[in-house]
Amino acid sequence: MKMNLPRSARAGLATLLGLSAFVVLSHARHHQDGNADDQAQNRPWMNSSLSPDERADLVLKEMTLDEKIDLLHGNGMPGWGTPRPNAHLGNGGAGFVVGVARLGIPIIQMSDAAYGVRSSGENGRYSTALPSNIASAASWDPHAACEYGTLIGRELRAQGYNMTLGGGVNITREPRNGRTFEYMGEDPVLAGTLVGNRMKCEQAQNILGDMKHYAVNDQESGRNEVNAVISKRAIRETDLLAFQIGIDIAKPGAVMCSYNAVNGDFACENKYLLTDVLKKEWNFKGFVVSDWAGTHSTVKASSAGLDNEQPFDHFYGAPFKEAVKSGKIPQAELDEHVHRILRSEFASGIVDHPVKKSVIDVEAGLETSRKIAEQSIVLLKNSSSVLPLDPAKIHSIAIIGAHADAGMISGGGSAQVDPPGQPSPHWKEHVWFPTSPLKAVCAAAPGANVQFESGADRESAAALAKKSDVAIVFTYQWTSEDMDLPNLSLPENQDALIDQVAAANPKTIVVLETGTAVTMPWLDKVSGVLEAWYAGSKGHEAVANILFGRANPSAKLPMTFPRTESDLPHPKLATPPPGTGDHGSEGFEVQYNEGLRVGYKWYDAENKKPLFPFGYGLSYTTFAYSDLKVKPGKETSVAFTVKNTGGRAGEEIAQVYAALPPTAGEPPKRLVAWSKVHLDAGESKQVSLTIDPLYLSIYDENGSAWKLVPGSYTFMAGTSSHDLPLQQKVTLE
Ligand code: BGC
Repeated sequence: MKMNLPRSARAGLATLLGLSAFVVLSHARHHQDGNADDQAQNRPWMNSSLSPDERADLVLKEMTLDEKIDLLHGNGMPGWGTPRPNAHLGNGGAGFVVGVARLGIPIIQMSDAAYGVRSSGENGRYSTALPSNIASAASWDPHAACEYGTLIGRELRAQGYNMTLGGGVNITREPRNGRTFEYMGEDPVLAGTLVGNRMKCEQAQNILGDMKHYAVNDQESGRNEVNAVISKRAIRETDLLAFQIGIDIAKPGAVMCSYNAVNGDFACENKYLLTDVLKKEWNFKGFVVSDWAGTHSTVKASSAGLDNEQPFDHFYGAPFKEAVKSGKIPQAELDEHVHRILRSEFASGIVDHPVKKSVIDVEAGLETSRKIAEQSIVLLKNSSSVLPLDPAKIHSIAIIGAHADAGMISGGGSAQVDPPGQPSPHWKEHVWFPTSPLKAVCAAAPGANVQFESGADRESAAALAKKSDVAIVFTYQWTSEDMDLPNLSLPENQDALIDQVAAANPKTIVVLETGTAVTMPWLDKVSGVLEAWYAGSKGHEAVANILFGRANPSAKLPMTFPRTESDLPHPKLATPPPGTGDHGSEGFEVQYNEGLRVGYKWYDAENKKPLFPFGYGLSYTTFAYSDLKVKPGKETSVAFTVKNTGGRAGEEIAQVYAALPPTAGEPPKRLVAWSKVHLDAGESKQVSLTIDPLYLSIYDENGSAWKLVPGSYTFMAGTSSHDLPLQQKVTLE
């Protein structure tokens, strides 16, 4: 309605409106000031200039016993057990820890996120799949690890989560472990550096970070009951060293203790692991969260250093409250757990930057995933430079392999990322991403006649290979949490398929989509082999880019590929005694008496020749090494020159190993530094690296400390653990 008012009246009304606007505004301002005042007075912990510890203590003072207990446990996990009355507070994923709404402390919403955010399908959301963690470790690249973490951090927040359960860094000591793809390989320095950089960057997105599974959860068989027996020196120099380095770099908000027992005590109630080493020696300030249903007690676990039970409250709900009331758990111990959880909430930024759901940047994610995949694919064999393929010269290509027309396999279990356009998968379903190698090869070689055979009929696959210029066989090995592989052979008669195809056409290239090492009885018969791992949302394009030379491979194996299972430290996998099974009452042991000899250190020490050694990977160009100069000192430094001696630009991962003095009692050598160098054709660069003294030290069980053994050290530099042309001896004191 339009009002017709005399001028004076209009002016009066304007004044009135203006006045009331002023009143409203000033009231609002007053209200805001009031809030700020209230906040300063009533919520002093919201002052972000205070340290996370100070802020946590201020909150702690205000909390009731029930509120404290509520922070110590989960509230179920969707799909696991009967949902609780407060289930509506959850965001899906792996569950949640209630906040303290009256004090402004948010709910911790947790999701698995090993190579991307899990369970997006069942929640009607989307996640990018990055190449698997072992793949990303093959890039040896802390910057790529950072991009990896950043992407996952962003997608977690976009989907309403503020805590990740990623950060897997169990050492690959048993390559049949079904979770090898979730971890960063066999070397503690490489694995720790990469997981640290990944988690640092993930947390920079205001995500509460995690590292897992602490510790020695190096096989899945009988994971809930197996007791890993290992010497103090060996555990410190292998499994724990990876965590130590990763935690030092990322300062994660949480560490997840594992299902298994270590030297007689379950990891989640193991005082040596949780308190003596993690919290005291490493000065870890975050909280320890149990693996899902990995808590076994209340009083013992609490005093050993477990801060938070997941996903239930069997031990850390009512029984915990009782134990505090009866004095079995001291108040200070309860407060310490709560302090750590609150501290991580402040330190990670989830209090100051509450999660706002948003739309995932799909295209940017795909681009990152492809780029990382290209840096992760290892060229293992390239006879007579069969690769890269020249699309202008190739007239016919045979694409062979189950699903090679439709997609590529991904890793299963709680790491599983849901593929686009498909219903959310069941537990342990084989999930093929719709990343069709056939389509990617057709796009890369538009002039060629590209034909497909699944390989179900080996005769027709061989016939197609015979009439084609080149045959590319896409092979797979599916692995998952909650299982180990019976052996390292490709399943489903794929070895026989490769044999037959290669017999028909020696210009056969094998692309491996695997979660761990495989044996290759056909290796001598094929011309090319690419290890593509589980290659993620853009795996098909990354593989095609490598096959056709649009990207020059630079990745190197972060784990040894053995010739046969009988060369492994444990030729036979330790499995639960018959009749017990997972969660069985009877425990069993796995004796890690190979000690320090994990991965390449085992093959070196035992003089066993692997199929492909640790650190191995080819490029389409070649590199030469010269002029090693080692400067011993408090921080020993190493310098040498790498030259690109081939015809195209490439990246070389130059590696430095050290042999310790014989009195140290160590395996023949260990990785101590590396650098990824970009070199144009003909270009040379000097690589200078400083070596962290920890990486040259040994763990002295008697003194319970790291120490440097004085004596003669040999430093070696080169292109893989088996190809180290430069060597220099120096004395370290
Ligand atoms: C796995 C963890 C995972 C948790 C929650 C457990 O079975 O071992 O890695 O974070 O489930 O899904």
